[in-house]
Amino acid sequence: MTKSTPYLIIGAGIHGLSTAAHLAKKLKATGKGSGADILVIDKAGIAAGASGIACGVVRNNYFQPAMRELMAHSVQHWEANAEVFQYNPVGYLQISAESMREDVGTIYQQQKAIGYESEFIEGAADSDKYMKAMFDDWSAQNITSVLHEKKGGFAHNAPAIYALAKMAEDEGVRIQSGITVNGMKFDSGSGAVTGVETDKGDILCDHLVVAAGPWVRDFWTMAELPKSVSIKGADGAMHDRLPMWTFWQLEEGVLRVDPQLLRTNEGKLPPVIHVDTDAPLISDVDGSVITEEMWGIYYKPDTNFGGIQGGAMPYPIHKDADEIAIDPYGPSSPEFVSSPEFAHMWVSALAHCNSRFKGTMPKYHKEASGGVGCFTPDSFPVFDTFRENVYMIADSNHGYKMIGVGELVAQEILGEKSALLEPFRFSRYAEGKLHPVSNSPYPWS
Ligand SMILES: Cc1cc2nc3c(=O)[nH]c(=O)nc-3n(C[C@H](O)[C@H](O)[C@H](O)COP(=O)(O)OP(=O)(O)OC[C@H]3O[C@@H](n4cnc5c(N)ncnc54)[C@H](O)[C@@H]3O)c2cc1C
Repeated sequence: MTKSTPYLIIGAGIHGLSTAAHLAKKLKATGKGSGADILVIDKAGIAAGASGIACGVVRNNYFQPAMRELMAHSVQHWEANAEVFQYNPVGYLQISAESMREDVGTIYQQQKAIGYESEFIEGAADSDKYMKAMFDDWSAQNITSVLHEKKGGFAHNAPAIYALAKMAEDEGVRIQSGITVNGMKFDSGSGAVTGVETDKGDILCDHLVVAAGPWVRDFWTMAELPKSVSIKGADGAMHDRLPMWTFWQLEEGVLRVDPQLLRTNEGKLPPVIHVDTDAPLISDVDGSVITEEMWGIYYKPDTNFGGIQGGAMPYPIHKDADEIAIDPYGPSSPEFVSSPEFAHMWVSALAHCNSRFKGTMPKYHKEASGGVGCFTPDSFPVFDTFRENVYMIADSNHGYKMIGVGELVAQEILGEKSALLEPFRFSRYAEGKLHPVSNSPYPWS
């Protein structure tokens, strides 16, 4: 049991391990230390949190310029190590109804401006033609635009995290699992953190990095940070006492068919497909109307999951954040797993988009799936330093794709500010420097 370390990272998920690997490299390169100065601890193990159950989708499709630039940076990291991360650079399709056309058009324009390759198709007839050239059974309705990102795609969730762990260990970083952090120790003068209390004893540190995914709520409390925030609105008025954390349930599942069932007309692995439409969604099981409101799904053929994997709109959990039982996490949760209604909706939506999925409801994999995510007040990440030496990586559930954030965090820990992370400071709430909001039905785009 290590009793002290210069750099202590809590969480062996995508952010903790990416930060560890990059910090180790930077310490060595600058002669300031080495990977041996870094300890990563996790109460469970590598990829035990959200990173190990994520769908693994990597996209740039964000309405917020700062998010797009950050994602473009992360995509470079995925591409640089595609093989070890089991990253499939198949691209990404945002297929939308009229209410989103203008927003998505803006995304396209700004992708061009930052050199992120994409194509934008507008109008119902051209969108249908474009999609039918890719899938001859394309049948989604009320679609008036298609944004085709030529970069991005998806990675196999846990294997990428294990690859990051290996990269970190190759640099001399130690990763210890089975250690639960229960509290923080503060310097009586400065208030900086001097270490953490764990179920195996105290660990002292000079720098603490919290990369705890949905458990960030607990570390926020341990650091004695405010449970509510004041946000300056666009009108300049302050909105007080807004909860710092809100939990959402991510609804995902797998259709147990041969992943080969979803190939392009040329027989290739297709881009990740994301459809948002206001066409009535009719049950593929009994012909009933599931919804006449806007709905959205995403899907991809995934050998890692053993079928067609994807999800639909998440839903907010209407409970005080402190009352949410995060453990046991993900599919092990007795409370927060994808519902039978999700399966019915998602498979019917698949059949709506590609008729090859008609009649496949019996093939839906009836095992628990999905998990909760912890969202910030504006649903965008907070990357910031608190109490002088605690770096919080609170990704607001955007984070599997953000594999490059660890590099930027490592840079900031060593004293060099990152322009890409600047728009994600906690102070943006009080200052009213908020990210623009789109017409998407999702809380994160
Ligand atoms: C169902 C689902 C699908 C998703 N799909 C995507 C996607 O397709 N693309 C995308 O970009 N994002 C996706 N996300 C979001 C993404 O998974 C997360 O944003 C990201 O994985 C968070 O990474 P992390 O490293 O911060 O945390 P995690 O991976 O959750 O790791 C946190 C670690 O901290 C450890 N820990 C917690 N508390 C303690 C403690 N007290 N002491 C010690 N250790 C502790 C946990 O055991 C865990 O291993 C999805 C999320 C979910 C739930």
